[in-house]
Amino acid sequence: NDKSLIVSFGEMLIDFVPTVSGVSLAEAPGFLKAPGGAAANVAIAVARLGGKAAFVGKLGDDEFGHMLAGILKENDVIASGINFDKGARTALAFVTLRADGEREFMFYRNPSADMLLRPEELNLELIRSAKVFHYGSISLIVEPCRSAHLEAMKVAKRAGALLSYDPNLRLPLWPSAEEAREQILKIWDEADVIKVSDVELEFLTGSDKIDDETALTLWRPNFKLLLVTLGENGCKYYTKLLFYLPTTHRLKVRVTSFLAFHGTVDAFHVKTIDTTGAGDSFIGALLCKIVDDQSVLEDEPKLREILRFANACGAITTTKKGAIPALPSPDEVHKLLNA
Ligand code: ADP
Repeated sequence: NDKSLIVSFGEMLIDFVPTVSGVSLAEAPGFLKAPGGAAANVAIAVARLGGKAAFVGKLGDDEFGHMLAGILKENDVIASGINFDKGARTALAFVTLRADGEREFMFYRNPSADMLLRPEELNLELIRSAKVFHYGSISLIVEPCRSAHLEAMKVAKRAGALLSYDPNLRLPLWPSAEEAREQILKIWDEADVIKVSDVELEFLTGSDKIDDETALTLWRPNFKLLLVTLGENGCKYYTKLLFYLPTTHRLKVRVTSFLAFHGTVDAFHVKTIDTTGAGDSFIGALLCKIVDDQSVLEDEPKLREILRFANACGAITTTKKGAIPALPSPDEVHKLLNA
C-alpha cells in the first residue's frame, strides 16, 4: 500500500510470565509464554492502528523464532527485514512482578539470535524506504548487533528518515551502569524524537529530581521532540519552534531553533493489570500520527491531541496481560478517547 513506512529495529523474544501473580521466579508454579520485545511491540502497535510497519531483527531458526515471525505476519507487519540465525536460539526472558513490587528478570541470551545480527545481513532497501526509523533496547550492548544497529541508523538517516529512539534501559544486561549511560548518551544526539521513562531520565541524568530543568539537561539543539513517560501520570513533552532569520546573503535564510514549549498531558484512568508494553504502545501510536506530517511536532494543540491519543494507547495496553496481546485496535482507542 502507499502509506508511509515505519521501520522498527531491534529485539523480539518470548516472555515467560508466571501463571500466578506476585511471586518470585523461583516460586512460580508454571509459566505462560507471551511474545514480546520492544521493537516488535512497536511494529505491531503501528500495524494494529492501521499504519504500515516493518520489523528488522534476528530470530533463532527454531520453534520460537518461527512462531514469532508468524505473529508479526498475522499482525500485518512486513517481515522482509527478519533474519534467522542457523546456530543460536531465539531470546527468552523470564519476568515477574514480585509481591514487593519489584520486577525480576532472567534472560536466555548467551548469546541469543537477536544479538548476532550482522551489518551485511541488513535489508538495506527496506531500511532506505523508511519514513520513520525507530530503534532502542539491547542491540547496542554487544557485537555484532551493535554494528548492525549503527549501520541501519546511518542508512535510514541518510535516506531522510526521522529517527526515533527509546533507550529501553535494561540495566542487568549491560556490563556496568557507567557503560550503559555512556553508550546511550553517545547515540543520543543522532535522534529526532526521543522517548524515555521517568526512571530512565533519573538514570541518565544522575539526578533524583524529575523536573523540567533536569529533563532539559538532556535536550539537544537538533531534537524535534523529547518525551518523558510518567506511567499513571501521563507524559511530558519538550519541543521547539523553528525561526527563519534572513541573513546578509541574498535569498539565503538561516534556520534557528529554540526550545519552544513544554507541558504535561494527563493519563487515562483505567484498571491496570500489567504495564508490560505500555511505553511501546505509546511510542508506536505517536509515530503513526506523525509519519505523514511532521509539522504537527511544531504545533502545540495538535501535538497535545496526538499525545492524548498515545496516552490512551498506553493506558489500554495496561488493562490486559502481556504486551502484544494488549496492543489496542483503533476501535478500542476511539472508545476510551470518547468515554
Ligand atoms: P514505559 O513502559 O516505557 O516504562 P510508562 O509505564 O510510563 O512507559 O507508560 C507509557 C504510557 O502508557 C504512559 O505515558 C501513560 O500514558 C500510559 N500508562 C502507563 N501506565 C499507566 C497506568 N497505570 N494508567 C494509565 N496509563 C498508563
